[in-house]
Amino acid sequence: MYKSQKKLLPKTNKRTYKMPKATQTILEIDLTALGHNYRYIQSQLKQGSRIMAVVKAFGYGSEDVAVAKELEKLGVTYFAVAYAQEGARLREGGIQTPILVLHPQAINFDTILDKCLEPCMYSSKILEEFIAFAQKKKQKNYPVHLKFNTGLNRLGFAQSDLKYIIDSLANSEAVKACSVFSHLAASEDLQQREFTLKQLDAFAEISEELKKALPHTPFLHTLNTSGVLNYPQAHYDMVRCGIGLYGFANDIEQSAKLKPVATLKTIISQIHTLEKGDTLGYNRAFTAQKKMKTATLPLGHADGISRAYGNGVGWVRINGHKAPICGNVCMDMIMVEITDIDCKEGDEVIVFGNQTTAEKLSGAVDTISYEILTAISQRVARVITRS
Ligand SMILES: *Cc1c(COP(=O)(O)O)cnc(C)c1O
Repeated sequence: MYKSQKKLLPKTNKRTYKMPKATQTILEIDLTALGHNYRYIQSQLKQGSRIMAVVKAFGYGSEDVAVAKELEKLGVTYFAVAYAQEGARLREGGIQTPILVLHPQAINFDTILDKCLEPCMYSSKILEEFIAFAQKKKQKNYPVHLKFNTGLNRLGFAQSDLKYIIDSLANSEAVKACSVFSHLAASEDLQQREFTLKQLDAFAEISEELKKALPHTPFLHTLNTSGVLNYPQAHYDMVRCGIGLYGFANDIEQSAKLKPVATLKTIISQIHTLEKGDTLGYNRAFTAQKKMKTATLPLGHADGISRAYGNGVGWVRINGHKAPICGNVCMDMIMVEITDIDCKEGDEVIVFGNQTTAEKLSGAVDTISYEILTAISQRVARVITRS
């Protein structure tokens, strides 16, 4: 920019950053919102408890490396991913913080070791396989994390495996159990409180026994985002937060304190005028009942907008107004009704963001924010912003 041009810029005291208008389908990732959510969750934690940020599935569909780098700057203690490849991506992106792999498989042990990832041990099979591998690779005290099943019945040792685990660990110097954890089945559902408290009791018993039996003190963690907010008595040493960091808490009131990180934007590619009786889209699923206008948008089910949102179930916002999806969702496009909306080709369209949140839109098809966020395909460009 030339000096003379600089003078023409309006003077403002506050540094305001206006997000650029979309010129194609993009998923905007707001790192300022991420920081807000991180600090909010931290403010809710009991003293001594820290955050393990869950950045699996490309950071809940956002942009894993950018999100992890920002969280690293904010001082996050640990990361968790589901699979080894996700941890490898973070390391390749320059992430240095410890990374727990929640669901490792034997085929990925080399990646785990190469990238200094820390596997979860959830069964006698995986424990035996990993100890044998670590011994072969001449490892000493390689960090692993013990996961216990306390009622979710998905992944984890049983309480009755304790003696076996303690003996296995005592017989090998190759690995060290750094932490002990469990996962709640219904932390967001207060009607299941009694069940959740039983899970927490079981976890307390298991971790007490291990603390006594292990030669060092493992750190303990058992809560996800909703658990953090609903069961403060179980914050322990760490909490595993995913969805909260991305702006949702499985509860409208709690979500209101957080800020959505991802905004899905697109533009109007073309506007059509339909006469009464004209049909629209595949299978002629929509028939115009009157003269009307529709806009065609460049995103479809291949981008993560499920066909379930078609035929008036889902909607987008154009210049603040709701425009329902008309007819079937195509692979690469959707059509929306804009008869009463003042707009033109090239105008920006918001699919979800601050106003229509991912939580709200996904609710229209009886699913959860997690699903729509992680469904946004890698074809959609990610754009990093700060609000
Ligand atoms: C995904 C996951 C989390 C994060 O849960 P949120 O509800 O997104 O906070 C925590 N722990 C485990 C074991 C998970 O699989």
